[in-house]
Amino acid sequence: MSVGAGQYLGGIRTLQCIERRCRVDAETGCWHWLGSTVAEGTPTARIDGKCQSVRRWALSRTRKLQTGRVFVVPKCGHQTCVAPDHAASLRGGAYMRWLNEIGATNTPAQKQRVKDASRARKVIVKLTPAKAVELAQRIHAGEDRATVAASYGVSTVHANKVALGWHWGEYVRAALGLAVPP
Ligand SMILES: [Zn+2]
Repeated sequence: MSVGAGQYLGGIRTLQCIERRCRVDAETGCWHWLGSTVAEGTPTARIDGKCQSVRRWALSRTRKLQTGRVFVVPKCGHQTCVAPDHAASLRGGAYMRWLNEIGATNTPAQKQRVKDASRARKVIVKLTPAKAVELAQRIHAGEDRATVAASYGVSTVHANKVALGWHWGEYVRAALGLAVPP
């Protein structure tokens, strides 16, 4: 039986076989592995009859894998990325420096995390009378205002006004026994 282009036998033999098992991000060039991973999140597959790191194997195909004891890291900072162009093999000292670096703020993955976090804070959840009362009760119980506000998707300023009974006043004031503001 002959195998034509695009046909698929199941084993991993080429970089293309790896790429087909990834979600390729056209913008960043990341190959996000959709297969299995080991506990720490390292993409893993059975290749050439043994379970191994997909990233290391992909890098070895480009002949950029240094010999000897090396760590293979995703330089883009995405643990799921196995793109050989994004991988590098590092020896001990360089690996330690890289670990320090990813704890810092200059990897694309870290930048994405910051972006996602700020987007999550901007989510607007429409308050309902019940939610407004709950929000006010939590703030009156002494919970951190910023945390409470974020969990309802409102600004801290808005949350304060709800807690004071200035917004959703008739519900909040009734539930918490607050005086009508002057
Ligand atoms: Zn990448």
